[in-house]
Amino acid sequence: MQKGSINVQSENIFPIIKKFLYSDTEIFLRELVSNAVDASQKLMTLSNAGEYKKEVKNLKVEVILDAKKKTLTIRDHGIGMTQDEVNKYINEVAFSGAEEFLEEYKDKDPKSIIGHFGLGFYSSFMVSSKVQIQTLSHKDGSKAVQWESKGDPTFELKEIKKKDRGTDIILHIDKDSKEFLEENRISGILNKYCKFLPVDIEFGTKTESIDDPKGKKDKDGNVEKISIDVPNIINNPSPAWIKKPVDLELEDYKSFYSELYPFTEEPLFHIHLNVDYPFNLTGILYFPKLKNQIELQKNKIQLYSNQVFITDSVENIVPEFLTLLHGVIDSPDIPLNVSRSYLQSDSNVRKISNHITKKVADKLSGMFKKDRKDFESKWDDINVFIQYGILTDEKFHEKAKPFSLLKNSKDEYFTLEEYKEKVKAAQTDKNDKLVFLYSHDKEEHHSLIESANKKGYDVLIMDGPLASHYISKTEQDLGASFARVDADTIDNIISKEENIPSKLTKEQEESLKPIFEEIVEKEKYTVQVESLSETEKPVLITQSEFMRRMKEQQAAGGGGMNMMGVMPEMYNLVVNTNHPLVSKLITAKGKNQKVLAKQALDLALLSHGMLKGKDLSDFVERSFELI
Ligand code: ADP
Repeated sequence: MQKGSINVQSENIFPIIKKFLYSDTEIFLRELVSNAVDASQKLMTLSNAGEYKKEVKNLKVEVILDAKKKTLTIRDHGIGMTQDEVNKYINEVAFSGAEEFLEEYKDKDPKSIIGHFGLGFYSSFMVSSKVQIQTLSHKDGSKAVQWESKGDPTFELKEIKKKDRGTDIILHIDKDSKEFLEENRISGILNKYCKFLPVDIEFGTKTESIDDPKGKKDKDGNVEKISIDVPNIINNPSPAWIKKPVDLELEDYKSFYSELYPFTEEPLFHIHLNVDYPFNLTGILYFPKLKNQIELQKNKIQLYSNQVFITDSVENIVPEFLTLLHGVIDSPDIPLNVSRSYLQSDSNVRKISNHITKKVADKLSGMFKKDRKDFESKWDDINVFIQYGILTDEKFHEKAKPFSLLKNSKDEYFTLEEYKEKVKAAQTDKNDKLVFLYSHDKEEHHSLIESANKKGYDVLIMDGPLASHYISKTEQDLGASFARVDADTIDNIISKEENIPSKLTKEQEESLKPIFEEIVEKEKYTVQVESLSETEKPVLITQSEFMRRMKEQQAAGGGGMNMMGVMPEMYNLVVNTNHPLVSKLITAKGKNQKVLAKQALDLALLSHGMLKGKDLSDFVERSFELI
């Protein structure tokens, strides 16, 4: 028997492993199962190359829980290790770089490093009071050995009897880590990290119902079913993303999606990523139906390294807007043993990120060119995603220009250029600048949209959480300005040659203002008197485009704007001097005049959905009295 001390510079490495990795101890199982998978695959490689001639069937990895003995064993039938190899791989090199690691991370938040520093085999000491390795190398004439350590950090190495090739890692679970003796806990961890490992992973058994092998029949003559226990394989060793796109049908992509996210709605479409130069990357990204719920949809992408689950927080690895997508990215070239902030500046990560952005843009562009109608039918669901990309990623912005669409109130879709052409003759302002009219809500602005349409103007529907920011960006791109249909009277938004003469005298107009000023909140409303067309409403409520948009952008989180404090709601009350009701109001006297003015104001508020609470009740009362 050989006794020795694990070759580490720092005597105290074990307590430190425990302390640093404490809140993410579960990764020990990922590390050990990955090692077992590696050992199995190495044997396969040797066998394929003809260097190993014995059988290599059934290379599955077994995870065995023994609650009585308080052990958790990870068993493989892979290459195994000779005594020399144990010395070399376990005792010598395990902690090379450990000093550096400690130096770098001693002041940092453990959470930021956890799981990203491949401590490999030694992470088992996070949960074990003693760890044994029993291993028999595949090499002819090898003797089985057992390595054992309590992490103190001495070890014992001795020959043992072991028939089967491969390695058992036996963890004697520490009394502080009893959770890892619970079946549910272990299967939860295996499901999270090992679901797509390339070698079968067996954990316990499951009950299956099969035809009675003796062929016993029930009274209807059908073969009876019996229940048997079969090995429980927890993983799918060949997930869709590692296959070639030509070998997959649409259905395969959909069923893989539901494997990743059970019980979720079908995705809209997918992109299969497959790169081997200048970096390795495979994966499938799915476009979910976004429905304007940005936050809910974020951070569903799972990151793998050679089919080992690493994390589902991919910020800093892919551009922010891409975190709205779902699916899997698998790359051994993403450095995982570094802090997250470092990732951003890593050149491989930047290349990967650019590549994904390009692929996504190419896919969208391809879909747009191939089948415009189909693309339009998906537009409402991908609109937010594309807006997000345009606003946050310059490269994507450039690529997206030709296929970003605008939708109008009649559900027609236009590219930016097409839309410019469509409205350029009719819609310009005083300075001949193109004006795009829009509404955020077809229902709320029903009458405004209708009157704009009657005048020959088109109205876009711009909704969703990013609309305000997107509008500002698109204005810069197109040299056009956007105005919401309630930003002013339509005739003021879009310049009209002819001025409509007022039916009232200057004195009458002057007398109108105070009537309304008396019945509105002064801080909130500015009363304006204007000569609009007779068919226009008698009283209109407008809100300056600039003010409203600033407010919206503030609400949606627009950098720096919070400095301005919360902006007040400000409206204009526009009184149309040419409406017959206003002529009537001028000549009415005393209480009558006030009732008429109040009624007209309330109707205007009502049509904007702004009449609420006591004002609404009063209005209803008054209306009943009037009729
Ligand atoms: P890493 O896997 O990052 O190299 P580990 O500490 O997990 O670091 O393992 C160190 C080495 O020990 C491995 O590279 C491998 O050579 C050997 N090893 C670990 N587990 C096994 C196993 N189950 N079978 C064969 N060799 C193993």
